[in-house]
Amino acid sequence: MDALKSLKTALRRTIVRAAPALPASISGSDWYFRLSGRLPADTLGVVAFHRLPDNQSTCPICGQPGITHAAPYPSTREPFRQWLVYFCTNCGTGHVPNAAHLLEHTFEGGFSDRLVGNRLVPPEDYFSDRGMQENASGFARAASQAKALKKAGARLGRVLDYGSGPGYFLKVAAPETAFAIEPDPDSAKYLDYLGATRLDEDALDEMQFDAIVASHVIEHFTETDVVRRVGRMVAALAPDGRLLIEVPQGGHSRLHLTARDDPHTLFFTAAGLRALVERAGGQVVACFVRSKATHQVREDAIYRPDPNDSFASTLGGGLTVIARPSA
Ligand SMILES: [Zn+2]
Repeated sequence: MDALKSLKTALRRTIVRAAPALPASISGSDWYFRLSGRLPADTLGVVAFHRLPDNQSTCPICGQPGITHAAPYPSTREPFRQWLVYFCTNCGTGHVPNAAHLLEHTFEGGFSDRLVGNRLVPPEDYFSDRGMQENASGFARAASQAKALKKAGARLGRVLDYGSGPGYFLKVAAPETAFAIEPDPDSAKYLDYLGATRLDEDALDEMQFDAIVASHVIEHFTETDVVRRVGRMVAALAPDGRLLIEVPQGGHSRLHLTARDDPHTLFFTAAGLRALVERAGGQVVACFVRSKATHQVREDAIYRPDPNDSFASTLGGGLTVIARPSA
C-alpha cells in the first residue's frame, strides 16, 4: 500500500499548501480517506479543489482516466463533512470514494428519521386534491416527467417507478399497470392504495417494462455499483421501452452550487449522466434540464464542457436523460 500512503501524504501537503483554512490532515484506513478535522464554519458550502498527485485513476462514471482533483464533501453535517469527493476533469462528475462505507455511517445517529420525513398522512388524504396541492412541486415534477416520456415515444402501459417514495409519479402518470421499487416501509401504504405492485430490485431481471422512471435516485448509488444498477434498468425495458433518469445538478467542478448535497454519493454533470446511461447499455433519445434556474460558473472551474454541446454546458438543474435499449 506504499502508493496509497504516498498519495495521502501528497494530498495532505496539497491541502496544507493550497488552503490553510481547511483541516491539515487526512486520516483513515488504507482503503478510504476521511478528513480528520472539522470544516470551520466559514468554509461551509465552499468546494475547494485540491489536485491529486500524479495518478489519474479511472472515473467510475465516464470510464475515462480523469480523476485529478479532490474536495471536502460539501456539507455541514455528520458524517458527510468528514469525507472527500473525487472529481473527474473529463466528465466533471464527482464521486465519494468507498461510498458504501459512507452510507453505512449515514444511518447512524438518527439520520434516517430526518431523511425519510413524516409518512403519517393517510393515503386518501395524501392523494386528495388538497394533499396534492400541499406537495405541489413533487406532483408537478412527476407530471413533466410523464409528459416528457410520452413525447419520447413511451407507452404508459407497464410502468416502474424505481425509488418511488409514496408514488407521485404513478399517481400522476396513471399507467395501465403500476410497479414500484421503494425500500422505505412507510411508503408501502401509499403504493398499495395506488394499486402498485411492489418489487425488489432482484425481480427486474425477469421483467419487461414500457417505461421506467428513476427520479432523484441514482445520485444515491455508489461509485462501484451505479453502472451495473442502471444497466439492470435498461435490461428490464421492453424492446421499445423508455428509461427516464433525473438527477440534481451536481457539477461542483464547474458551477457554484448551493443546494444541500448530503446524503448524495455521486455529483453528476449533464455529460456525466449521459455518458453513464450509454455505458449502461442505453441509447439516449432525449436529454434536457427540467429546471432552467441558472447557476454561476466558477472562476476556478476544473471542468469545461464543449460549449457547442448545449446539454453538457447547461447552467440549469433537474438533469434528465431518456434512453431506450441499444439495438
Ligand atoms: Zn468522468
